[in-house]
Amino acid sequence: MSWSHVERLENLHDQLTILLGGAIRLLCGEAGVFVVSKEAFDPQSSAEYTLYQIDEERLERFLAWAQRGRQPNSVEPLVCRSMPHDLVTQPGLMEGETEQQEIELCSLFLHDPTGPLGMLYYVRLAGMRSCFECGTDGTVHMFVAQLAVGLRFALKAQSLEKEQARLAAIFQYSAEGILTVDAALRIIDFNPAMERLTGWPESEVLGCSYFKVLRPKDRYGNDLRQEDSPILQAFAGQVVLNKEMVISTRDGQCIDVCVTASCVRSVKGEPMNGILNVRDITLQRQQEEQRSMFISVISHELQTPIAIIKGYASTLARPDAKLDAKALRKRLLAIEEEADRLNKLVGNLLYASRIQAGGLSMEVAPLDLVPLIRGVTRRLIAKSPDVAVELDIPANLPLVMADRDRIEEVLQNLLDNAVKYSPHQRALTITCRATGEEVIVSVSDKGMGISLRDQERIFDRFQRVGGAPTQAMPGAGLGLYICRVIVEAHGGHIWVESTLHQGSTFSFSLPREEKAQLPMVMF
Ligand code: ADP
Repeated sequence: MSWSHVERLENLHDQLTILLGGAIRLLCGEAGVFVVSKEAFDPQSSAEYTLYQIDEERLERFLAWAQRGRQPNSVEPLVCRSMPHDLVTQPGLMEGETEQQEIELCSLFLHDPTGPLGMLYYVRLAGMRSCFECGTDGTVHMFVAQLAVGLRFALKAQSLEKEQARLAAIFQYSAEGILTVDAALRIIDFNPAMERLTGWPESEVLGCSYFKVLRPKDRYGNDLRQEDSPILQAFAGQVVLNKEMVISTRDGQCIDVCVTASCVRSVKGEPMNGILNVRDITLQRQQEEQRSMFISVISHELQTPIAIIKGYASTLARPDAKLDAKALRKRLLAIEEEADRLNKLVGNLLYASRIQAGGLSMEVAPLDLVPLIRGVTRRLIAKSPDVAVELDIPANLPLVMADRDRIEEVLQNLLDNAVKYSPHQRALTITCRATGEEVIVSVSDKGMGISLRDQERIFDRFQRVGGAPTQAMPGAGLGLYICRVIVEAHGGHIWVESTLHQGSTFSFSLPREEKAQLPMVMF
């Protein structure tokens, strides 16, 4: 039976009550309570006592009285004494009889070879005697032994049922994938986390070889051999803990996982079942890759300007350096340019880390994009006179709701990229158009272009695409990420349309002033 289909077989608590009621009736009793002894009490099983025909409200007083008097023991297991009526009488139980007759409380000490099991307190009409008390001394002892075995069994069953329910809950709600197999490596359990991870429903994999379902590979993509199967290794007594591998989903995707395998053995020590815990580490892998990409991009980006600054500074500092004013100025300008590059890099890094920490504040107000675009364009042409910028802006462009400085940053980044990645064709176009809801700004170049596959990831952090020509340009892959976050924080979108070797158009949209509905969460 699979863990997913654990059902309560029967209500074991009722079984205990039935067993107890039968015993009390055999002892000529009418009502009673079985109190589990401290030694036998198992927190896994149910309550410390089981009632038969006594209501909860009277229980405390009843027990207080019962436990005060002389108690039986293993030598004299049954002790009876008379009892006040009001402690037991209740509607429908001993009601009529008790007015005429005495009632007595019997205490039966229940124990078995394992030790004491508990005490059965029951009430009956005085003078009643069960057949077990009428015989020789040994008869009561035999009855006690039989009842104790039955009760211990019922308590154990209760405990097992609870344990099974607890394990089933762990199995069902575990965030980690869990599968179990039989000795022939056929799947017998496949939890919901495993279903989510692999896309296989449990019903389709039960009975199948787990190796065939998961098709595991090593970290480098080579198929694992059957003898390297983690569960077989666990069967062979090896420790398989946090072993990294790649498994395949139902639709053929590969997922990086970390598995731990263990084995359940028979009393003879033979493997009966294997258990595989599977943790998805895709995110961890991506983070590792991002970290190493970050380190390589940043160290490259720091090294280049530092080397240039150092080279020029050393030349200038040489005592024998004889440079005319023009050569001197050229070197100083180069140092300044590289210092600017460093400054921009550090600025972008700080910006990105602030975004990550959720600390990007914005001052949103109605904004006319036209003067902003003209200002940024003017500065660009002053800096790069060989660049031609064409503006295509309709008259009466509606205002947008935006933070001026942040949008200037977006525009600046897009224009810088357009210039940077168009080394031969220095003509750019900035286009604006309004739709019913938004204003869309586009920056087009006739540069390197970006392949369709790469277009998907350029708005993520540290993504530099396009191979060697891109690597030759300064940059840390942060500009477009920052643009995306700023535009999205305004409730807009940013996207690219591009053809490799022909050019790119980057566009972003901002809500029109009168339509603006900023997102609830702002960076
Ligand atoms: P950076 O320019 O600092 O590398 P960005 O985040 O601004 O970082 O850009 C990410 C990547 O997108 C760039 O490395 C480049 O490969 C590509 N890219 C951006 N803009 C353009 C463009 N106009 N033309 C071609 N490729 C571009």
